[in-house]
Amino acid sequence: MMTYETVIGLEVHVQLNTQTKAFCSCKAEFGQPANTQTCPVCLGLPGTLPVLNKQYLSYAACVALALDCKVASLIKFDRKNYFYPDLPKNYQISQYDKPLAANGFILIKTPEIPQKKIRILRVHMEEDAGKLIHTANSSLVDYNRAGVPLLEIVSEPDLNSAEEAYEYLKQIKSILEYLEVSDCDMEKGSLRCDANISLRPKGQTKLGTKTELKNMNSFKGVRNALNHEIIRQEKLLKEGKTIAQETRLWDESKQKTSTMRTKEEAHDYRYFPEPDLVPFIIDEQTINSIKAALPELPYAKMPRLIRQYGLSEYDAGVISSDKHLALYFETAAKNYPNPKAICNWLTGDILNYLNSNNIELEELTKILAPENLISMLQLIDNNTISGKIAKEILSEMLATGENANEIVKKKNLSQISDSALLEKIIAEVINEQTKVVEEVKSGKDKALMFLVGQVMKKTKGKANPQIVNSFIKEKLKIN
Ligand SMILES: [Zn+2]
Repeated sequence: MMTYETVIGLEVHVQLNTQTKAFCSCKAEFGQPANTQTCPVCLGLPGTLPVLNKQYLSYAACVALALDCKVASLIKFDRKNYFYPDLPKNYQISQYDKPLAANGFILIKTPEIPQKKIRILRVHMEEDAGKLIHTANSSLVDYNRAGVPLLEIVSEPDLNSAEEAYEYLKQIKSILEYLEVSDCDMEKGSLRCDANISLRPKGQTKLGTKTELKNMNSFKGVRNALNHEIIRQEKLLKEGKTIAQETRLWDESKQKTSTMRTKEEAHDYRYFPEPDLVPFIIDEQTINSIKAALPELPYAKMPRLIRQYGLSEYDAGVISSDKHLALYFETAAKNYPNPKAICNWLTGDILNYLNSNNIELEELTKILAPENLISMLQLIDNNTISGKIAKEILSEMLATGENANEIVKKKNLSQISDSALLEKIIAEVINEQTKVVEEVKSGKDKALMFLVGQVMKKTKGKANPQIVNSFIKEKLKIN
């Protein structure tokens, strides 16, 4: 039976969050009324001249350097020519033969592979086109997005599964968020991804015929589209058929891809140098100062979290993967001596709550301030509440924003510190469970655990299990 290897390369388009557009002073804000953010330059009126946005160049260089790319010393722009109603100039200002940067890499890991280097072929600057809005009777065009600054990040075909592609995207997004150069919102179109995918017999070095996948609107969409395409291509190859080189559209509702255009219809963009923007040299000093100002990125933060706080590799990976989560963790860890406990609550109950309620990590500080989490941890430490009750209190804190002490008081959740009451309940349990008591006396640990469990049940989780344990042992005169 022939087995196949999947080869995937990704093209990611990122919208950079500059104040103004790439080559004019129009605002680059999302969601404004149609055609309110336009001017003669981005509408491509005759006689207008583009001027490069300095912030755009510096954000783009930041990303390139964070991806470990070499930034070109010569910055040159080209025209990518095509006609489409969303493109008033009939060309897009882009970069062709001299991209801003090349030859970078990022590291990814999946459950199957501990670490893998994915090479970045090139990173180039490109302005966005406008947006068509199709209604029942007409097609409308909004040029607010025309001229918004984009960055295209092209990987080498180093990815071998949909899972690896998914991890690659997560890693890119995490880096972009650390750099604060994009809001990375796929729904708003700030982050877009096209994929090239082909299959080849295992062991063969020559690449198979590839298809290009478009129209994926989420990371999960990319993963599903790739998995669908792997199965589709593999089936054709196993039947001895050939793969057509074509662009295919992902249909999220049908969860399948279909032909958009074939190779014969592929565009010839007639690239040529943009005569209105003179090529210029970016000196090494500028590059070095951008490099020096880069924040600590996830791949540097992760080993530091292990060193500084004694976190496991897994925990440090989860915490460092998101800028907001890492900041939250470190803010809390500064004021509480047990970072491992903070990490456990964060990566466990708190992340679960955020995921199941579709709340962004960015919002966490607002609904649960780090000092509020710490006050809950302190209540566990001083035996006011048990770990079990703490879970209950935490979900209430997350849902209402109340602090731990208020909830404990309001719901009367503090642990039973009255030993007379506790002894009374233990005596009750011992009387009820005579058979189990015999087992405990004959040295069965499980039986002892059962008795502790019964006491916890009667106290609705408000007893301290360790104290209950020692009280029972005392009462039954066992060690
Ligand atoms: Zn404009």
